[in-house]
Amino acid sequence: MCSVGVSDSMGHERGRHHKPDPRSFVSAWTEKDLLDGNVVDSFVVIFRTTGCYWARSGGCSMCGYVFDTSLDVSEDDLMHQLNTAGEKHQGQPITKIFNSGSFFDEHEVPPQFRKAVLKEFGGKSRKVLVETLAPFTKKELVEEALSFCDKFEVAFGLESATPAVLMYSVNKPFGLEQHVKAASIVHDCGGSVKTYLLVKPPFLTEREAVEDAVTSAEKVADCSDTISFNPVNVQRGTLVERLWRRGQFRPPWLWSVTEVLTRARRLKPRVMSDPTAAGLPRGAHNCGECDATLATAIRDFSLRLRQDFGGIDCECVQRWLDTLELEGPLQASLNMDALLDRMKW
Ligand SMILES: [Zn+2]
Repeated sequence: MCSVGVSDSMGHERGRHHKPDPRSFVSAWTEKDLLDGNVVDSFVVIFRTTGCYWARSGGCSMCGYVFDTSLDVSEDDLMHQLNTAGEKHQGQPITKIFNSGSFFDEHEVPPQFRKAVLKEFGGKSRKVLVETLAPFTKKELVEEALSFCDKFEVAFGLESATPAVLMYSVNKPFGLEQHVKAASIVHDCGGSVKTYLLVKPPFLTEREAVEDAVTSAEKVADCSDTISFNPVNVQRGTLVERLWRRGQFRPPWLWSVTEVLTRARRLKPRVMSDPTAAGLPRGAHNCGECDATLATAIRDFSLRLRQDFGGIDCECVQRWLDTLELEGPLQASLNMDALLDRMKW
């Protein structure tokens, strides 16, 4: 979840083909985030669970987190993971609890473990965040969480508010309707809502991807406190990886990410992005020269340390504009970058 390549979630353990140890959590690290307008440390932990039920029955086109999971994980293993992860906490004001699936799915996160996690980190941090699929959200679960935590946020991977994009590009069966309903449950209980939207799921041109991210953000502005744009990265074992290897998918340009953030910043929620593997071939990237600058600017923008992307320039912006222009008439989401290279554009 860090901005720059080597320390991203793939660089930790996600997506590797090895037999996962059910007693060890996937990863934990500290990153910066905002709390009441101030930049503070945030403790991030990924627990190894039996995984997302949807990933086992089809799964989203870009998600390889199923490789972090283990069907052998018992409740005792989970409690062991919690004990070791809890020892790593150093009083960071925010704790983000990830489990490569849904925190509110009782088959994946058993009630006793769920309560223990909330008690542990709710007692150590001022704010706790969990991720879940919308249909698992229930009033009593949010109320329970708020009984352990000062501030509680639920993050939902809506990915897109466009039904056709969800059906054909993402392969996710839940959409805006379920999202709005789940968000209102969280808000009614006094929690806050973070909405994840993808930038460039497969089969969209670069321009279509930018437009879909912006229009999706407009549709969720009223039910979100934060909108986080996730540029699609190439995770192992996914449909996206297959397309990428065939030259039929290029992760979005970082210019596309700044364009989306610039257009969405007028909305009421905080808008942010934390591109995984930024600057690497598998992550959102530009030309190689300007990637680090852009990744830093996106991180600073997300922490409200800068208001816009003025003053950042690079020769590759023209290639990005060419891509936006050329992919449309070709009716294809190609790796224009590689094509232009070959043509010595
Ligand atoms: Zn550049």
